[in-house]
Amino acid sequence: MTSVQTLVERRERLLGPGNPLFYDDPVHLVRGEGVWLHDADNNRFLDCYNNVPCVGHCHPRVVKALCEQASQLNTHTRYLHENILDYAERLLAKFDASLDRVALACTGSEANDLALRIARVNSGGEGFICTNATYHGNTTAVAQLSSIFEPIGGYGEHIRMVRWPDSYRPIGGLAGDALADAYVDEIKAAIESLERSGLRLAGMIACPIFANEGLPDVPRGYMEKAIACVRDAGGLFIADEVQSGFGRTGQWWGHEQSGVVPDIVTLGKPMGAGHPISGVVARGALLDNYRRHEMYFNTFGGNPVSCAVALAVIDVIDDEDLVANAAAIGRYVLDGFTELQAKHELIGDVRGRGLFFGIELVNDRETREPAAERARTIVNAMRHKGVLMSKIGEHDNVLKLRPPLCFSRDNADFLLATLDEVLAAV
Ligand code: PMP
Repeated sequence: MTSVQTLVERRERLLGPGNPLFYDDPVHLVRGEGVWLHDADNNRFLDCYNNVPCVGHCHPRVVKALCEQASQLNTHTRYLHENILDYAERLLAKFDASLDRVALACTGSEANDLALRIARVNSGGEGFICTNATYHGNTTAVAQLSSIFEPIGGYGEHIRMVRWPDSYRPIGGLAGDALADAYVDEIKAAIESLERSGLRLAGMIACPIFANEGLPDVPRGYMEKAIACVRDAGGLFIADEVQSGFGRTGQWWGHEQSGVVPDIVTLGKPMGAGHPISGVVARGALLDNYRRHEMYFNTFGGNPVSCAVALAVIDVIDDEDLVANAAAIGRYVLDGFTELQAKHELIGDVRGRGLFFGIELVNDRETREPAAERARTIVNAMRHKGVLMSKIGEHDNVLKLRPPLCFSRDNADFLLATLDEVLAAV
């Protein structure tokens, strides 16, 4: 079997250095099934990280749908085909009735790029707001709205970043409505700042659960007020559901929790359970008006194979009741993490929605000093004990877990016991 070191060297020679690779001791995966991944040496890992294979790795129904359509026909959306229509119907039925049109693409970045264009055309503005600890993708336009990696050439005059609604280190030590209002004031200030520069607001883009920011307990009322404030200024609210969508939060969409309906929703990652398909769902009038201004065509987006796969993903989520599973097992895991918090000083805060968790590690519970180095140590130690996870957050100290939606109670017990052991050792 090819050794890990040989693969790492070959990778560097062919792809160049600087390609992100997980873990100090990288993992060479060769097979996946359900929540389990297997490496070339036949070691088994519990996947607590990958939200893309949302229905479980290599789900037989998804694989079958892919193989069957791939053996029949694969073209693009300039020919008529039922698959895209069947898929569009099934997908749109999962949204509020006002969100009644969809455009398909291949990646989350493309979906967000298209959403920005739709917002520009419909608002007549060009200014965009995002948070100060986020990532929305890698096209030139979208990279402008990603604070985690600064774009080449820096940020444009049309971008304003606002503080994300941090609940663990709240601004001004505020709480409740006052905290929500303080964060909304940031958005108001950003809009005023754009206006002072002679720029009108086109929109705000945010993940409804602020996953990349560190998965805060979003202050109640924040989303509603943020969206109202953006709309009052003539802008559109784009909910980036690339991570939070498709049942991850124990509801179909992350924005459902807030009770307000975004103008545009972008989708990706779990949509094809590993097959590259993404989408923009919007109010019909917005997408129709955009299409009067610009011809958007995506060669691979919405092809018959992608749509067959994506349809199978929705079927499996529905038939296996995975949204309810995410809610139920999610609560069980969160309770388990809360018990670990009582036992291990290192855990400053535990947060989660459905099967998406953030465990904030701190060196001192009083000062809340982020424990980024120990977060890194734990992620690597868990990998050696057969559990895959990662870390996120503005301070890089939040353990990030989002297993496939078919995660079971037994899986949860294994995760909790292993984490307990590793925390005790650290
Ligand atoms: N939006 C969010 C919230 C993301 O987390 C990501 C990727 N991590 C993207 C968009 C970009 O998706 P993709 O990598 O498929 O382009």
